[in-house]
Amino acid sequence: MKEQILGVNVNMQSEEELMQLIDSDIRNGRKSRIVAINPEKVMMASKNSELMELLNESTYQIPDGIGISVASRLRGGEIKGRVTGIGMMDALLKLANKNSYRIFMYGAKKDTVELAAASIQGKYPKLVIAGMLDGYEKDMDKVARTINAAKPHILFVALGSPKQELFIRENMERLDVNIFQGVGGSFDVYSGTVKRAPVVFQKTGTEWLFRLVSQPSRIKRQIALPQFLFKALRAKDQGSL
Ligand code: UDP
Repeated sequence: MKEQILGVNVNMQSEEELMQLIDSDIRNGRKSRIVAINPEKVMMASKNSELMELLNESTYQIPDGIGISVASRLRGGEIKGRVTGIGMMDALLKLANKNSYRIFMYGAKKDTVELAAASIQGKYPKLVIAGMLDGYEKDMDKVARTINAAKPHILFVALGSPKQELFIRENMERLDVNIFQGVGGSFDVYSGTVKRAPVVFQKTGTEWLFRLVSQPSRIKRQIALPQFLFKALRAKDQGSL
């Protein structure tokens, strides 16, 4: 159940429905990968066919930025709300906690990933942190060996985009992992290095405004939003897959 927004596939299911599919992937030993879709990535992909392919070949494309659900709604589409990358990661952690699944955290700076792992373990005591590795190791064989030795069900890759998506594509086959999720700056949030927007911003879908005020350098990324909405409204590629 996917909808196309400027040529990029986006799942229409809610977070809960997606979690059921993912749990069944784990139980059946299937490999799947999750990528978060936001207006910035759609705009880049519309000018870069390789990136488009990279996003579209993922198993699940979740409607992350608020702009995606707004574009869908304005065009009469089925995507009702957002499923944020960090929200999905948290849902996966809950699932892992419930079933004592093993997770591996790969990415960010050494201190950050360690702090994030400690905070996650505190919040979810029954999941198993099978291993962690900072995102600055250059030897990819070593990265793959470390992950495989830990045998995780779920691998979170926090290298930023599109680096993390490329890493997942290039290594998915040799990695003995079920679920791959690219999570961008989420370890920074779990570690407390970067604060998530206060709940009022989260609830009203205005986290972008909070981020803009607290990190003004993000303006370049946010400027893409109105342009994206304009293009998405004019495009004719709407439809279900
Ligand atoms: N990062 C990394 N290795 C790299 C480049 C970046 O581990 O070679 C990490 C960086 O430390 C940060 C995250 O990737 O924790 C990128 O976060 P950002 O918010 O830029 O990602 P986005 O979700 O915006 O793509």
